[in-house]
Order: sequence, then structure tokens, then C-alpha cells
Amino acid sequence: MKKVILTGDRPTGKLHLGHFVGSLKNRVELQNSGEYDMFIMIADQQALTDNARNPAKVRENVLEVALDYLAVGLDPTKTTLFIQSQIPALYELTIHYQNLVNLGRLQRNPTIKTEIRERGFENSVPVGFLTYPIAQAADITAFNANLVPVGEDQLPILEQDREIVRTFNSLYGDVLTEPEAMLATDEKSRRLPGINGIDEKMSKSLNNGIYLSDDTATVREKVMQMYTDPDHVHIDDPGRVEGNVVFYYLDVFAPNDPRVAEMKEHYQRGGLGDVTVKKYLIDVLEGILSPIREKRAYYETRPDEVREILRAGSEKANVVANETLKKVRDAVGINYFDKEK
Ligand code: ATP
Ligand code: MG
Repeated sequence: MKKVILTGDRPTGKLHLGHFVGSLKNRVELQNSGEYDMFIMIADQQALTDNARNPAKVRENVLEVALDYLAVGLDPTKTTLFIQSQIPALYELTIHYQNLVNLGRLQRNPTIKTEIRERGFENSVPVGFLTYPIAQAADITAFNANLVPVGEDQLPILEQDREIVRTFNSLYGDVLTEPEAMLATDEKSRRLPGINGIDEKMSKSLNNGIYLSDDTATVREKVMQMYTDPDHVHIDDPGRVEGNVVFYYLDVFAPNDPRVAEMKEHYQRGGLGDVTVKKYLIDVLEGILSPIREKRAYYETRPDEVREILRAGSEKANVVANETLKKVRDAVGINYFDKEK
């Protein structure tokens, strides 16, 4: 039996470079290895937990995320691409798992705490948002996923999902598969910072990203705005490489490039301007983004084809999720009217 992978993205915006290095690149490699059964979910229901008052944003971005998937090389003949809200079993699984988690445990989750702060939810957090780790346990277990490729920010959520699985299995028997997180091998890729500074994760909701669909002029403009070293005022001043977003990106997107090593040394010594380094980064990013852009443009003119890919994928996903739901109902003992118990 092949190992199963499940992962996904919230349709709160187009996908960015953080997604690319943190997860998408990995997914394409795993897909093409042929060694896994991969399910990739557009998590619209999760996106609604903090966007309930703006459902149009979520709806519009479902197609955008799908376009990004196809653009980076996810292939619907090899990978099941589906929409979370179209899988009713996930709602019911969530209800079952809710009984296994304490409120305090949810409130202590460090990622949830950060996200509550970032969204200004300190005084009134939607219940659905606070409990999204539970819904995520439903997503993962519905497909019996062994592996979940994610960025570093998702580790505390996945830890909570694993706890839910263990609690369920200890109460009701060995029914659910315990998943493992799968991080990018390159450490710096696990949490790509936004363009404004090293401490902030690149995030759709924070408006600090470079998107896979950004055109050349936009990429150039965003790189030119990037945070570098605030004390590097004159070209001759020695500059800092640590904490400098431009060098961080060069480490991630041009690893082992001897020109980058040279530039770092020159920058630290003094005499190398930010603009030169930024121009180099623009070229590096263009090399990565232009084939993605091209492929995206192809699918942008074929929205019906993309919708059909998601419909067919959701149909397939439903079959698997319903099987798991049946096992869960049997295990809990609420299968009163089933003939073959
Ligand atoms: P939102 O702001 O709506 O939460 P997001 O930009 O955080 O959006 P998600 O859809 O929440 O994106 O995340 C999808 C996947 O991409 C997750 O596995 C997440 O860990 C990963 N990811 C998101 N941002 C980054 C990043 N900056 N670096 C590496 N991985 C990331
Ligand atoms: Mg996020």
C-alpha cells in the first residue's frame, strides 16, 4: 500500500513564494516520485472561519489557488485536487473530534494565539476559527494520511491533530491513522519571511507577499521595497547579512550560488549597494516565476476545465472520506440502522 499524503491551502488569496518553497515544491516532487497517494485540498471551509463576513473573497480565490496548483506542476491525473466544503463527511468527523479536545488546549496552541493576534480577534474569536485544528484533524484522518507537508507555522496544529488521533484510538480502537508533518528539507524554506522584515511570516492575510502570479514589474517593485539592513545607509558602510530579507531570499532561492557567497562577503565588508543585490535577486526570482506564470496563463483561459478538475477530484475524495466516516461511526457505536454492522 502506498503512503497517503494530505495537505492544502486556504483560498484567502493567491499563493506566494512562501507556499512555493515551504510546501508546493515538495508536493510536486512527491507527486512525481509516484510513491504516494496524494490528496490536495482547497480549504475553503477553513478560510471561512476568519472570513465569514466576506465569503466572496473565499469563493473567488478557490479558482485562483487551483490555477496556482496547476501552474507549479500539480497534475490532476496523478494527484486528487478537491474542495473541502464539498466533502460532507468532514463536517461530521469534526463534530466527533470536538468531544475529545478541551477549550484550554485550543487556546494554548501557539499558532492559534499568533493568528488571533494578527487578525485582531483578541476580544472575540469566532468559535470556528479557534477550533480549526479540530476540523484539520478531520481533513487529515478522512484520507488516512500518513504524511502532511506543511510550513513550520502549522507544526503546533499538526501536533494537536496527532493528539486527537491518539485520544480517539485509545477510546474507540485503532481506527485512525496518526499523521506526521513533513517539512521542507531546507530549514530557511520552512518559514519564508514577508518582504517587510525577517520576523513576519509571508502570509496572504498580511499583505507582505510576492505571489506566484505577480508580473515582472510587480516582482521588481516588491524586491526593491524589501527590508535590508537599516544601518547600511551609504554604499561604503559595512552591511549586515543576518536579518536581511534580500540575503535570506538568496539563500533560499539561489542556494550554493558562488556569486551569492561573494556578494555576502562584499556587502559585509562595505562597498556593495542594496540595489545591486536586489537586482540579482530579481533575476533569480524571474527564473523561477516565468515558467510558472506561463503555465498559469494557459489555464486562466480555461476556467471550465479547471472547475471540472476540482469537481472530479471532490467526487473521488468523497468516496474515501465516506469510508472513514463509516468506520468512525461504527467505532463510536452510532450505526443503529446499518444492516451490515
Ligand atoms: P493565511 O494568511 O490566510 O493564513 P497563508 O499565507 O498563511 O494564508 P495558508 O493557506 O494558511 O497560507 O498555508 C498553506 C500552507 O503553506 C501551510 O502548510 C503553511 O504552513 C504553508 N506556508 C504558508 N506561509 C508560509 C511561509 N511564509 N513559508 C513557508 N510555508 C508557508
Ligand atoms: Mg496560514
